Amino acid sequence: MEKCPLCGGEKKQGYTIYSVDLNFGVVVVKKVPAMICSQCGEEWIDSKTAKKLENIVNSARQTHSELEVLSFQP
Ligand SMILES: [Zn+2]
Repeated sequence: MEKCPLCGGEKKQGYTIYSVDLNFGVVVVKKVPAMICSQCGEEWIDSKTAKKLENIVNSARQTHSELEVLSFQP
């Protein structure tokens, strides 16, 4: 089991909500897989997931909606 570098707690697989402010609006992505520290709550998203989030944000940027809420599709 991986340890949290911040507090030494246990990292566990879970889900988080990712949100980003694009100035004209906000994109919220639900059910993003992440490793979450059971002690301090710090979250880590792997590079594959981060890449997908980047794509989601890029397409949301093009629609220019004020609020976009979607679920992460693995
Ligand atoms: Zn921690």
